[in-house]
Amino acid sequence: ERVGYAIIGLGRISVEETLPAFGEAKMARPVALVTGSPEKGRAVARRYGIPESAVHSYQDLEKLRDNPAVQAVYIGLPNALHREYVERCAGIGKHVLCEKPMATSPEDAAAMVAACARARVRLMIAYRCQYEPFNREAIRIARSGELGKLRSIEAVNVQSSGTVDQWRFSHALAGGGALPDIGLYCLNATRYITGEEPNDVFARIYSPPVDARWKEIEESVSFMLRFPSGVIANCLASYDSFNDKSMTLHFEKGTVEMPDAFSYHGQQMYVSRREGGVAVREQKRIEPKNQFALELDHFAQCLKENRQPHTPGEEGAHDQALMAAIYRSAAEGRPVDLPKPPGPTRGP
Ligand code: NAD
Repeated sequence: ERVGYAIIGLGRISVEETLPAFGEAKMARPVALVTGSPEKGRAVARRYGIPESAVHSYQDLEKLRDNPAVQAVYIGLPNALHREYVERCAGIGKHVLCEKPMATSPEDAAAMVAACARARVRLMIAYRCQYEPFNREAIRIARSGELGKLRSIEAVNVQSSGTVDQWRFSHALAGGGALPDIGLYCLNATRYITGEEPNDVFARIYSPPVDARWKEIEESVSFMLRFPSGVIANCLASYDSFNDKSMTLHFEKGTVEMPDAFSYHGQQMYVSRREGGVAVREQKRIEPKNQFALELDHFAQCLKENRQPHTPGEEGAHDQALMAAIYRSAAEGRPVDLPKPPGPTRGP
């Protein structure tokens, strides 16, 4: 029996990626919708065979309590609403898969972890890349030592953003600009690739002054992290550039290039090293899989086996603390020591 999810919020990520991914999932199915638009709700429900009686408004979210088919919820709402909806879902005993960034402050993130622990429900943050096969292979290579020690990481997530009417340009709703929306992929990647927590960070933020989009939130952020093993990570995120979502890992004896490391689809991997004195660069053959489906199935599997997901609330909460420190470093114009998480942030 598949685990039943209620989808909360029918915006782009829910409608264009998460809902279609159920078609490739093996353990998960959509069984209810929560939306501000009854019309959209009915149309999406028809497409996925969800009964009209399981389409609710945001006010009526608590009705999910009485639907035994709903074991978990997926939250695809603007960042600042994540806390309220995670707490309400925990309050009715539903397990929560919440979109990234988890929250808009470290305080909210900590409250969300606490609320789910009190309610004895599982909380997972939708860090899709940690379930994606090419990123998993990069983690494997880093851990295996087959290219020697990891020395440095370059992680880039730049794109051109939309128009200013969107919630993403409101500090109150988004909690920030390029950093929490796309720079977070770079930050989280440096942690899962190294398997370490960074010691300190030095950040710069830049927003062109003559553009209404950057009145409340930053256009660009660049930050350098230093890890206990000596690894240095350079990260760059921007809302006003041609798409580049790439990561390069520099090892003692080789380089791993991932041109679309953080994209929804189309990952590739190139490994360069010396073989008998000759430099070779080869493309790795890895079977691509839908990372959204893998993420939905992972949480479903964890619920069936009653175990902690690989990217629980604690993983998101630590990124939230690190992003607050990145903003502080940029504001103060100096490197900042980073807090360490109280315990492990990642499940098996
Ligand atoms: P979106 O604007 O397309 O959708 C947001 C939805 O929330 C809309 O349906 C909107 O009607 C609804 N909503 C409810 N209350 C609202 C309010 N007060 N103000 C504005 N909208 C409100 O956004 P999106 O791109 O789908 O992003 C949703 C969440 O998913 C964000 O947290 C975002 O960071 C995350 N996201 C994750 C990925 C990923 O790859 N994992 C990709 C995109 C977005």
